Order: sequence, then C-alpha cells, then structure tokens
Amino acid sequence: MDLLNTLLDKGLRRELPTRDEALAVLATSDDELLDVVAAAGKVRRQWFGRRVKLNYLVNLKSGLCPEDCSYCSQRLGSKAEILKYTWLKPDQASEAAAAGLAGGAKRVCLVASGRGPTDRDVDRVSDTIKAIKDQNEGVEVCACLGLLSDGQAERLRDAGADAYNHNLNTSESTYGDITTTHTYADRVDTVQKAHAAGLSACSGLIAGMGESDEDLVDVVYALRALDPDSVPVNFLIPFEGTPLAKEWNLTPQRCLRILAMVRFVCPDVEVRIAGGREVHLRTMQPLALHLANSIFLGDYLTSEGQAGKADLDMIADAGFEVEGTGEVTLPEHRATAHAGCGSHAGADAGTDAGADAGADAGCGSHAGGGCGPCGSADREPPRKEPVSEARTDLVSVRRRGAGTDLAPNA
Ligand code: SF4
Repeated sequence: MDLLNTLLDKGLRRELPTRDEALAVLATSDDELLDVVAAAGKVRRQWFGRRVKLNYLVNLKSGLCPEDCSYCSQRLGSKAEILKYTWLKPDQASEAAAAGLAGGAKRVCLVASGRGPTDRDVDRVSDTIKAIKDQNEGVEVCACLGLLSDGQAERLRDAGADAYNHNLNTSESTYGDITTTHTYADRVDTVQKAHAAGLSACSGLIAGMGESDEDLVDVVYALRALDPDSVPVNFLIPFEGTPLAKEWNLTPQRCLRILAMVRFVCPDVEVRIAGGREVHLRTMQPLALHLANSIFLGDYLTSEGQAGKADLDMIADAGFEVEGTGEVTLPEHRATAHAGCGSHAGADAGTDAGADAGADAGCGSHAGGGCGPCGSADREPPRKEPVSEARTDLVSVRRRGAGTDLAPNA
C-alpha cells in the first residue's frame, strides 16, 4: 500500500499517521499534488461532506499590544500602518457581527489584541457576547483574548461563549525565535484552561515563518495532542513594518501540501483556512476547499480579504455548500464528546490577534518499495521548495468595518 492509500485509510479510521508519513506529504512533488489533494479530500468528505463553515472576525481592540510576536502587525513596535483603536462597545461589535452573519457566517470570532484580558475586559466581552446572542439566535461565538488567568474561561463560558481560540502557532523548539514575551507553555496552558472549562477549543498554526517541515509536523502533532475541535491554518502575511516582512516562503502548492498534512493528522477536526488565504493560495483557493472545511468570510483582523461575495461564489463554483446554522459542524462522535484530534490556539491568521499573521517515521512503507509519493527506490531526491515571489501587492491593510465608519466586508 503506498503512502496516500495508507494515509487515506488512516484518515477514514481517525488513526494517527506516523511522523514520517506526515513529513512525506510535505515532500511530495508538484506532479503528485493532485493525488495528495484527492486523498486528503476523501478524508475531508468522510467527516464533513461538502460543507464549508463560514466564520466572521470582529477585531474588538486593534494594535498597541505590549507583546512582541514577530508575525503580528499589532505587536510592540510594529510600524505597520494598521487601524489602531481601543475596545469596541457591545453594540458596535454586534453591528459588525450582524454583517458577517447576514453574509452567511455561523460563527463570530471576537478578537482583542493584548497579552490577555483583565477581569474588566472579560466583563466587557461578556456584555458583547450577550448582545450578539440576544440578536442572533443560533450564532456560535468564539473569544480570542490572549492568555487566560484562572477562572476567566469559566466566566466566558457562563457569558455564553461557545469556543475559545488560542493558537500554538509554531513548534515548541522554535517558539522562542518568534516571541520572547511569553512562552509556548503559556499558550498550551491557555488552550488547556479553555478545554477544562468546557469551551470548544480552537488552536492552530502559522506557516511561512521560516520553519522547517519538522517544525510544521511538530506543531500539528502538538495540536492533535491538545485535542482542539478546530484548527486554523494561517499562512504568514509578511506585513511591512514587522520583523517577518521579508519572509515570503510560501507557494500555493506548499500551502496545499500543508493543509493536506493537517487534514491527515487531524482528520475529523474543523480545519480552517485562516489569514493569508488570498495572498498565498491565490487562484488555487478552490482546491484548498477539498482539504479544509472552514474559512473566514470577508476581512481579517488588520488586513482585507477578498469580497465576501467572492468567497461565496468560490464555494458554489467549486461544488461546495455553505454550512447552515442548523447543521452541526463536527462529526457526531466529536459533537457529542470532545474526543479525537484535540483543538485550541491569533494572527489575522486563525485569530490570536496575530492572524493577520502579519500569519517520525520517515516515509512509512519503504520495505516493499513503491511507497507512492514518498519514495520508491528510483524516486527523485526530495523536492526543494521554489523561492516564492514577494506579493506585497496582495497585502492590503484593513480600512473598513470594525473601528471605521465604512461598512464591513461580508
Ligand atoms: S499575536 Fe496577540 S499577543 Fe502577539 S503581538 Fe499580536 S496581538 Fe499581541
């Protein structure tokens, strides 16, 4: 059985691939890419059909963060010319959320820049959650407020939050290269607090920060161990004015391989394409819907996405359908009991205010030869990722929606 048949079989059974199998997905050639998408697409359809969940970001508080996450346009010392404003009032946030919900979103993600909320901030966000829930029956609300202190997750849950997002972002071994003002362990702790409080955990990663394939596999396996329900995959938006502004490392093909790997490792989890979708996948976005079952509608935290109408047209043209509020996102076994590929961890990327990120087993079955995409005896050496062109023309700072007088994009 070759690599893709093995991964497909494991995905349908919710069995963890070996690290080597996950690494082999990232090492496949462009000639093998459609086969990779097809195999991971079968896993996606097994657990999520052809549904696409739409999520809508509301940036409650933008910029001026004291933390130094290198990917983030809102970081300490960022020269990115983003919108900067303090807490939106509940009615302002509710108005922004309503635009996203009217556009087809079923989840609203309330995000605030900062290390973590004060108890007063939790009060504010609680009022906002109530305002949104009072006006929109059936809406899911996810909070993304940074590192949580004891008791705050419970208070958010009691206020009506359904989920909490806090991304791990990158591997434990490289975390210190990306951020110095808090640790990887701090992030893990917050995901665990959300989980323990009974919130649906959302935690993901940012690709394209100069990490190795091993780092990507490390963070995805760490996410699986945390058992989140949703995993946002951000592709770094290299914002001018941030330390990672020159990190243009991603091609559309690389993004597809990463999404496929995440799907194989977390087969039954909501995999969400987050920040950087338009910038890095570009015209290949529809193919990515075969891998992920969730996207953000419209704009991101500090950057603009494509028009909400273009998101909806893309979904329809690719043969998928927008998930309705009455439909349950997760497969029954996960919806009824939190089990499986763990999930909880911001960048206009998956959220974690950084989501505008800006964003071992070797090849299993060599024994009999013919390990499919990962390597029969006469296989070519591992592909070297082509250097990506800097597409600064595609990075657009958000100038509409929350914090402005202009209508949101939804
Ligand atoms: S990701 Fe969050 S904590 Fe880090 S700099 Fe951005 S807003 Fe601050």
